[in-house]
Amino acid sequence: MTGPTRIASIGECMIELRHLSEARLDLAFGGDTFNTAAYLARLAGDTLAVDYVTALGDDPYSAAMRAAIAAEGVGTGLIAALPGRLPGLYSIRVDARGERSFHYWRREAAARAMFDGEAGERLVAALSTYHWLYVSGITLSILEPAARERLFALLGTARARGTRVAFDTNFRPRGWPDRDVARATMTRALGLTDIALPTFPDEAALFGDADPDATVARMAALGVPEIVVKNGPDPVRLRSAAGDENVACPPVAEIVDTTAAGDAFNAAYLAARIGGAAPREAARAGARLAGTVIGHRGAVIPRAAMPAPETPGC
Ligand code: ADP
Repeated sequence: MTGPTRIASIGECMIELRHLSEARLDLAFGGDTFNTAAYLARLAGDTLAVDYVTALGDDPYSAAMRAAIAAEGVGTGLIAALPGRLPGLYSIRVDARGERSFHYWRREAAARAMFDGEAGERLVAALSTYHWLYVSGITLSILEPAARERLFALLGTARARGTRVAFDTNFRPRGWPDRDVARATMTRALGLTDIALPTFPDEAALFGDADPDATVARMAALGVPEIVVKNGPDPVRLRSAAGDENVACPPVAEIVDTTAAGDAFNAAYLAARIGGAAPREAARAGARLAGTVIGHRGAVIPRAAMPAPETPGC
């Protein structure tokens, strides 16, 4: 039986409250792994089926979030509804100088319990049948140690059966008790990764990497076969079976909001690779989508603003 390639993006989507003024708020939903799932679904066509995996509650916000995920063409069948739990929440405020600041309420979030109990066991069994699993360092940071072990065991057994794992370290210091735990956890995840999609400044902050070459060397030494280091406007540093390459990012005329640049890049890179493109072409697709995303406000830009599919050979 040949169905579509199935990819599951695993993590936390939160309620986003954006200040319109000091007292007025606009409600949306956001989270790194969800942003990537949404862009993947937009790029996927019929050959790729994208599911989002998290846990929500049984409240109206969870229902609205589930509907928003489904509206992006992302499957919600593996999203648990945990009675009495709530999604995490964050606010975005902009100060007089245009600087954005984020505040989080997420310690009690339902997503933290997605791998708990028998439901967590069933989730692991379901996920082990996917062709691709996508995880970020934020996914790892929200899980308690026992749940993290379950996820690591899943990645190991699924890979042994042919599943491929894509991982963006996405290091956010506030999600971790200390740097040693973050370093050890990320390093373990990298040992279970087929495509690593880090962003250089995160790696410099956590591991002290001097440059993207150092990031590549560290991850290659852990056995990661394909490494894609994003670095803002600087070239994407690639190492893969095709060798070492640098791929330039097209200049962006007006940068409006850099939220989710890396998440969008990852989606376009993975969609291209799963579709059979070479790493270099996939990086070009990633930079192209990320360049469009930072020219618009918000993490998931309007569909109408998505770049047109590239003509082969251009
Ligand atoms: P993150 O969102 O994870 O911090 P980056 O800032 O490295 O990731 O951005 C991801 C991708 O977005 C880059 O690889 C590049 O393709 C694109 N990008 C980011 N900033 C710029 C910029 N100033 N000019 C052009 N492209 C950019």
